[in-house]
Amino acid sequence: MSGRAALVLLSGGQDSATCLAWALERFDRVETLGFDYGQRHAIELKQRAVVREKFAALRPAWRERLGEDHTLGLAALGAISDTAMTREIAIEANEKGLPNTFVPGRNLIFLAFAAALAYRRGLTRIVGGMCETDFSGYPDCRDDAIKAMQVALNIGMDSRFTLETPLMWIDKAATWELAQTIGGDALVNVIVNDTHTCYLGERGALHAWGHGCGQCPACRLRADGFAKWTSNR
Ligand code: ZN
Repeated sequence: MSGRAALVLLSGGQDSATCLAWALERFDRVETLGFDYGQRHAIELKQRAVVREKFAALRPAWRERLGEDHTLGLAALGAISDTAMTREIAIEANEKGLPNTFVPGRNLIFLAFAAALAYRRGLTRIVGGMCETDFSGYPDCRDDAIKAMQVALNIGMDSRFTLETPLMWIDKAATWELAQTIGGDALVNVIVNDTHTCYLGERGALHAWGHGCGQCPACRLRADGFAKWTSNR
């Protein structure tokens, strides 16, 4: 296995796209993985291909490093979830304060499948956009959960995977800044125009921060982060 080869969990949203750019700067070979679990915002999955294509066009080195794309169907995850992510119900908080967009253990499941794929593909770095700073209350975005998962995967697969989470300690404004630092305006423009974050799956009008309904929690987070970032520039 090469320590210079990575698998990026690419949902098609802002965070995972920024992680893909981060990985393309660092690793010799970068493959991508998306999950189809019946999410309401399935448009995300369509945007993955667009993001990959646009990134490859940004820099010759990125085109060279960008490897295969994988999509895994996880319909079972949708079947065991009773949430606003997979059903046509309003997004609200439950009694624990968790938004009902939460699919229990989703990131743990994603990471287990990612590691199984990475093992088969000879990729030792697994890169994800998990973030503890504005994690919307999802407990499996927390650093301790990721670190514990890394230990479990390495023991359970007798491997030496490193789970990389470049966004773990930064907020959305800093995520925009990270994209700017990595790829300048050209990369920021691709993220604004072609990534998809809106939970409701609306492309709708193009705002300064991208497409989306502008009202759901994911849009609010993205829009507020963009506003904070641009006001600090
Ligand atoms: Zn939205």
